[in-house]
Amino acid sequence: MEPQLAYLKSVIEGLPGIERWKAWFERNDGGLQRGLGRTRYLDLKVNRIEAIPRILTARDIKFVRSDRYANVCRDCFGEVRRETYPGGGHYWCPNGCFDVEVEQ
Ligand SMILES: [Zn+2]
Repeated sequence: MEPQLAYLKSVIEGLPGIERWKAWFERNDGGLQRGLGRTRYLDLKVNRIEAIPRILTARDIKFVRSDRYANVCRDCFGEVRRETYPGGGHYWCPNGCFDVEVEQ
């Protein structure tokens, strides 16, 4: 589990250039199921970034949560871009994972 935990720590700390979530999770799926146990594995699978602090804390792994945390793409952890204007806003992932217009 050490490499997986190191990856999760780098995600929550907002390190640049880390592997995309989807590819990483698929590649590590079996190891995560065995290493985390079913409850925490499902928590990670469903809640992703919200589950990481719970997993690290349960193992006494110290981490510093990045300011980027609140503002990262759930799929690739790229920094979400935003433009707001009267009546709405435009939010998108710089890596193309999503692109939405929101009316306020
Ligand atoms: Zn993205």
